[in-house]
Amino acid sequence: MSKPKVAFFDFTSCEGCQLNKLNFENDFLDMLEHVDIVEFREAMDDKADEYDIAFIEGSISTPTCIERIHDIRRRAKVLVALGQCACSGGVNAMKNLHQPDWVREEVYGNEKYRFPSIPAQPVSAVVKVDYEVRGCPMSAPEYLHIFKSLVMGRKPEIFDHAVCVECKLKENECVLDKGMFCLGPVTRAGCEAICPGNGQYCTGCRGPISNLNLEGAVEMLREHGFSETEARKRLHLFSANELV
Ligand code: SF4
Ligand code: SF4
Ligand code: SF4
Repeated sequence: MSKPKVAFFDFTSCEGCQLNKLNFENDFLDMLEHVDIVEFREAMDDKADEYDIAFIEGSISTPTCIERIHDIRRRAKVLVALGQCACSGGVNAMKNLHQPDWVREEVYGNEKYRFPSIPAQPVSAVVKVDYEVRGCPMSAPEYLHIFKSLVMGRKPEIFDHAVCVECKLKENECVLDKGMFCLGPVTRAGCEAICPGNGQYCTGCRGPISNLNLEGAVEMLREHGFSETEARKRLHLFSANELV
C-alpha cells in the first residue's frame, strides 16, 4: 500500500511553525516512516502534482497568496492550517488595525508600490480548511495528534475549551497567585498549558475560545490594572482578526 503524500507550504509567516516541527526529533522521524514528503521547500527541491495532506503555514496577505492557495487546495485531499498566522492571520493581522497605506510606507518606505499587499487573512477566508493546528508557534502535541490521526484515517479531536481547563488538570500553580496576568481563561486549549506549566502567563497565542465574551475579557483585564487600550492590545496580539 502506498504511503500518504504529504506537502508543506509557507505563506506570510516567520516560518517558525515549520522549523518547530524539526524540533520534534524522534516523533518527526517516526512520522516520516509512515508518509512520503513530496514538497517541503525548507528541506527539498522536489514538487508534486497532488497531495493527500497539505499543511499550510502563514497568512494570506498578497494577491499572489490567493492564487497559490487556490492552486494548492485544488491539488490537496485534506488541507490543514498550521500555526496562528494560517488559522487567524496571527500577529500579521495587527496590520489590519491600521491604514493599509501607512503600514506599507512604514515597512517598505518609498518602495511601497513594488509590494502589493492586502489585509492579512486566515487561509479559511479564501479556501476550505479541513483542520487547524493553532498556536504561535503551533502546538507540538496538537500537531502530532492531528498528523497521526489523519495518517491513520481517523477524525482528530479538536479542542474548544479554555487553557485553564488543561492547566488545572495538570495541577499547575496558577500564575495569577504570583501577580501575573494570564489569558488562560479566554484562550483555546490544545497546548497542554505549557506556559503556566513553566511558571509563565498565557499570552493567548492560540486565539480565543469560540464563545468568548469580548467585553467581559476586556473588563477582566481592567480589573487586573490594565487600561482599556492596553487590554485590547493584549487581546489583539494574536487575534486581531477574531476580536475586532
Ligand atoms: S504562527 Fe507564529 S511561529 Fe508560526 S509562522 Fe506565524 S508568527 Fe511564525
Ligand atoms: S495559570 Fe492561567 S491558565 Fe492556569 S489556571 Fe491560572 S489563569 Fe488559568
Ligand atoms: S499557554 Fe497560552 S501562550 Fe502558551 S502556548 Fe498555550 S495558548 Fe499559547
